[in-house]
Amino acid sequence: MAEDLNPHAIARTQFDNALPYVDSLVGWKGMAEWLFAPEKIVTVTLPVVMDDGLVRTFQGYRVIHSTGRGPGKGGIRFHPSVDEDEVKALATWMTWKCALADIPFGGAKGGVTCDAAKLSLEERRRITRRFIAALGDNIGPHTDVPAPDMYTDAQTMAWIYDTYSMMHRGTNSLPVVTGKPLDLGGIVGRSTATARGVFFCTERFLASGRLPKRSTIDGARVAIQGFGNAGRHAATIYRDAGAVIVAVSDTRGSALAPQGLDVDAVCAHKDASGSVVGAPGTTKGDPRAALEVECDLLIPAAMENQITLENAARIKAPLVAEAANGPTTPGADVVLAERGITVLPDILANAGGVIVSYFEWVQNLQNEQWEADHVDESLRKHIYRSTDAVVAKRDEMIAGMPTYQARWQEMRPGATPLRNPDYRIAAAVVAVGRTKATAEARGVWP
Ligand code: NAD
Repeated sequence: MAEDLNPHAIARTQFDNALPYVDSLVGWKGMAEWLFAPEKIVTVTLPVVMDDGLVRTFQGYRVIHSTGRGPGKGGIRFHPSVDEDEVKALATWMTWKCALADIPFGGAKGGVTCDAAKLSLEERRRITRRFIAALGDNIGPHTDVPAPDMYTDAQTMAWIYDTYSMMHRGTNSLPVVTGKPLDLGGIVGRSTATARGVFFCTERFLASGRLPKRSTIDGARVAIQGFGNAGRHAATIYRDAGAVIVAVSDTRGSALAPQGLDVDAVCAHKDASGSVVGAPGTTKGDPRAALEVECDLLIPAAMENQITLENAARIKAPLVAEAANGPTTPGADVVLAERGITVLPDILANAGGVIVSYFEWVQNLQNEQWEADHVDESLRKHIYRSTDAVVAKRDEMIAGMPTYQARWQEMRPGATPLRNPDYRIAAAVVAVGRTKATAEARGVWP
């Protein structure tokens, strides 16, 4: 069966799945459309002189999905797949993620369509500076605050800060971007924050007793797809907590080791060769092989649309924690649920990055430097709180199913009955419910 893999269409399906459970949104079409539509879409054309002296033209995007709960917040990615629909979807997920984490931001995202792996450092610097100059005051410390995402890092964030601050002399521009280097207003723990957040989320979820046969990470067999910022740190953090890492992967392939791999050796091999493939003590698989191995926990940490109708039936992990944004399609969600596989969704599980970005923003506004313990403990509290909220919301939704079904049939006579909500639907219900409450409190201007 063909599946619509357009990320924005997927975000819409997720939104529609949540609506029947968000009080007063059922049947209130106007409000729902307002909550889903992006506030602002900026497209810029970027001429850049390449190392060979030729001018190449790149396309850049910045989408603010919502500033209802605060300034836009969301990463900038450099990737060939970047287009308007992808950026719109990622910005929408950021609105929900920030609402669920209960931090005072809306949602935004940006990107440049390019193959960053084939660009030199200097070319990436020129693209970044031209992009930020072209965006001008579409970003700002109190309007829209970028951060790292795929193929952008602390160095990219330093160039973003520098470019913006050159255009805004005499003001404190540090809070315009997060994920900066430590020597430039960055916060300790930002680079590991996404992976640590995934860890805290799984730890808390397992402790809730909702997964049969496992209540701790100690001894769990873990497979990770993607070995960049999110995936690589996840391998180390889970290993340090007693997990056995049985597979990792990157764009070139998977490194498989059913008895457990040596994470430090894989990291050294990746640094030396550019890939995890061929790391000592591992066998080679294709890039998606890591998704399908026997394990207790699967962490997709690469990109969208990796668990689809095509491979959902072959996923063997009973628990999936999404470090990547949008790795599982709505069709795959249904298959996984039918097979009893639990998914901790992206907007819950990978919120650690934006939560620590929020701490960095606060730190920059107050000209302070937070301690590592304070960062980790505050992150833990935020993730535990949102995990508890999603678990409780799902329990409440399941207990109320007869009422929801009756209300649904009353509003949409003849509609397909609602299926039992999974944690993705519960997370979206909490998030959309919060954005709706804020919108109602503010009202429609004028
Ligand atoms: P990154 O660029 O540092 O790493 C991406 C990794 O994924 C690389 O190892 C790459 O080789 C691998 N990869 C890409 N396509 C693949 C494929 N088809 N199969 C296997 N491996 C593949 O990016 P990142 O910052 O780690 O982001 C990864 C995901 O996590 C993205 O979905 C991103 O939006 C999400 N995320 C990142 C952060 C963050 O703070 N960096 C926060 C939240 C969510």
